[in-house]
Amino acid sequence: MAYCLQCGHAAERKIPEGDHNLRLVCPNCDYIHYENPKVICGALVVHEDKVLLCRRAIEPRYGYWTLPAGFMEIGETVAEGAARETIEEAAATAVEPHLYCIYDIPDIGQIYMLYLTTLQEGKYGVGPESLECALFTEAEIPWDDLAFEAVRRTLRHYFADRQQHSDHSTFAIHQEYIGKDKSIKRY
Ligand SMILES: [Zn+2]
Repeated sequence: MAYCLQCGHAAERKIPEGDHNLRLVCPNCDYIHYENPKVICGALVVHEDKVLLCRRAIEPRYGYWTLPAGFMEIGETVAEGAARETIEEAAATAVEPHLYCIYDIPDIGQIYMLYLTTLQEGKYGVGPESLECALFTEAEIPWDDLAFEAVRRTLRHYFADRQQHSDHSTFAIHQEYIGKDKSIKRY
């Protein structure tokens, strides 16, 4: 049972007049609770020939490796959110952000916006949401223990792009769709 955020009355799932999607609607005060996709902002943080990964200390995917990333907050830009997540999860400062990967995941209502960044002074620690953080070369990436498809794709893109270009700021943006079966559609 869901309850109205405004008056606490039991809410119903129905299609409001003039709408075309099911919503939680309050029969008492007519409040409509809109649920929309969430933006996940994050950073691929590079230091020399290595990338920074964090092992998750939280669910989902506890114990698996991820990029510093999380839900964007009201009041910040996407790049600010990516920098904040890097501080929170890896106690590191990500500089020189370039928008790098955008993933639509409509089945779970998420949009990833990941920046390619540089690790300031090569310094990092371990944030409260991480069990450990570490720098990995391409050969050291724990491919079987990555937390999310978006992380795997981003690392693949990065190591491929790095073969072609030496300057991060010239890397093209990858915009893709990730379906239920992890299928990839390029735009
Ligand atoms: Zn209400």
